[in-house]
Amino acid sequence: MELIKKVARDLLESKYAIAFTGAGISTESGIPDFRGPFGIWKRDPEAERRAYKVYTKFLKDPREYWIEVQKSTIYPIIDKALPNSAHRALSELEELGKIMCIITQNIDGLHHKAGSKNVIEFHGSVSKLRCICCGSRFDKKEFINLIESGRVPKCKICENFLKLDVVHFNEPIPPDIYIRSFNEVMRCDLMLVCGTSAVVYPAAELPRIAKRYGAKVIEINLEETTLTFEGVSDYIIKGRVGEILPKIAEEVKRSKKE
Ligand SMILES: [Zn+2]
Repeated sequence: MELIKKVARDLLESKYAIAFTGAGISTESGIPDFRGPFGIWKRDPEAERRAYKVYTKFLKDPREYWIEVQKSTIYPIIDKALPNSAHRALSELEELGKIMCIITQNIDGLHHKAGSKNVIEFHGSVSKLRCICCGSRFDKKEFINLIESGRVPKCKICENFLKLDVVHFNEPIPPDIYIRSFNEVMRCDLMLVCGTSAVVYPAAELPRIAKRYGAKVIEINLEETTLTFEGVSDYIIKGRVGEILPKIAEEVKRSKKE
């Protein structure tokens, strides 16, 4: 409880706090995690090897890529998932003016569904398509009939083939996302790291950059991570984000009234 009060106080004293979220915040919405001890890749290493080839497949043969996307069992689970108490608490903290931006590594759009406004999806979103040539993004819904009929969607601006907005392995982070994230990280004086062990690069650089440029870094995770061991985080609150974030939001609300 002491730590909840401490993080609430730190948030209230901050001028520009942001959140950095990862898989741990979405597992509580039933979205399986890839790298965790019970993750998809622990159970099916072949799936991990396939995942590393998806982007090259798109570059070589967009039709094959879309056939593979259509066969995926994970995207339908993500499409149906609903935000949980952790997403809602972050949205509430934004409304209270205490979280200015969320940078998420998740592709599920659950922060948007929970009502958060300033969200940067570092690894893209399953609900959008993106042109790797001109960078335009489109709502997947617009193309769903075309995709289901076996055709490859094309960019409405430059007519190049579209892929999912999701950033696959070996695919560069889109420049607009990179620059926006970097600006937020340089601007923040507090970063709340929620449900991520920060091992996937370049996203994992963000808390390290925040720390290097003077921000306080606070972790909320089930276990200690490399951020804890490297001394990147100032302190860690161990536990489920779905339990801890709502308590923090409550405490911030209570203290604001005093
Ligand atoms: Zn284009």
